[in-house]
Amino acid sequence: MIKKVNTMSIRRTLLAAATVVVAAVGSPALAEETYTLRLAETWGPNSPILGETTKHFEDMLEMMSGGRIEVRIDSANKHKAPFGIFDMVRSGQYDMGHTASYYYKGSIPNAMYFTTVPFGMLAPEQYAWFYYGGGMELMQKVYEPYGLLSFPGGNTGNQMGGWFNEEINSLEDLDGLKMRTPGFAGEVMSELGVAVTNLPPGELYTALERGTIDALEWVGPALDFPMGFHQIADYYYSGWQEPGAEVQFLINQKTWEELPEELQEILRVAMRTAAYDMYAKSTNDNAQAWERMKEDYPNVEHKVFPPEVMDALRETTHRLLAEEAENDPLAREIITSQREYLKTVRKWTNISDKAYLDSVADQ
Ligand code: CA
Repeated sequence: MIKKVNTMSIRRTLLAAATVVVAAVGSPALAEETYTLRLAETWGPNSPILGETTKHFEDMLEMMSGGRIEVRIDSANKHKAPFGIFDMVRSGQYDMGHTASYYYKGSIPNAMYFTTVPFGMLAPEQYAWFYYGGGMELMQKVYEPYGLLSFPGGNTGNQMGGWFNEEINSLEDLDGLKMRTPGFAGEVMSELGVAVTNLPPGELYTALERGTIDALEWVGPALDFPMGFHQIADYYYSGWQEPGAEVQFLINQKTWEELPEELQEILRVAMRTAAYDMYAKSTNDNAQAWERMKEDYPNVEHKVFPPEVMDALRETTHRLLAEEAENDPLAREIITSQREYLKTVRKWTNISDKAYLDSVADQ
């Protein structure tokens, strides 16, 4: 972090102090400093929704701190390490990162539960768990040994299950299917006979068009539409694998500790506001993109997986989670906390949002 003493501000403070007899010499205002936070994001430059979130964060932080904090954002084209954010913030090369914790499953396996879990919580349920159900404390327990702090960084909302060339009517249709789907969901699918690959976003369209893969999942209409998948696949399935994917802000702990308390609080507020706004923006942009897609491409058909497929996906998910819990006490603590919280919060969702949606006609 670049730290500078703001001489203009000191001069102003001294002038003001001279006119106030009781002003204490050496008050914190006299030592007012400005801070430059270098932030690396996984996303490319001008990335819709995700990149807008870091820009929103930057604007809020600079305004709310009265210019005492500046943010310098480097996108993936600059730092060339979209999946290296964890290491770069850990080493202090950057003060902050904006990324998704499940990308780092290889280096820090227990991080993946803080993005989303198949058949897990929806975004509002998960925010409730983070802020009021012990989620933040567990996340900190995972990141602390690495000298990092992690905060919710924005939600994509419920992600779609993906684009398919052929309808999925039974479990047999999954057998031998070549699909791009990363992370834990990929492990679940491969247990059901899917040939899983994880191609980078830039290769997805061509792979589907050429038949290298038969299906893929990316995010939802807002981010899928610009990729053009609707031009080459007809079936768009609702999801199961990422019911509320939360990206994250990572902060180097030394950077955090160097900031005065009031700036830490401003930072906390800016992150929380930027995160929640990304969720609102995702809802808006997904709705708009889906409307456009349906109008312009009537070939696109919305589908849900049949109960037989959903049951197998759910059972496999629970079996794999039980294995993870068996192998690692901290994983067990996180999985148990999420499962218990979901049990309670879902009862409320069911008699409020779900009952409401079930009882009103399509609007
Ligand atoms: Ca996804």
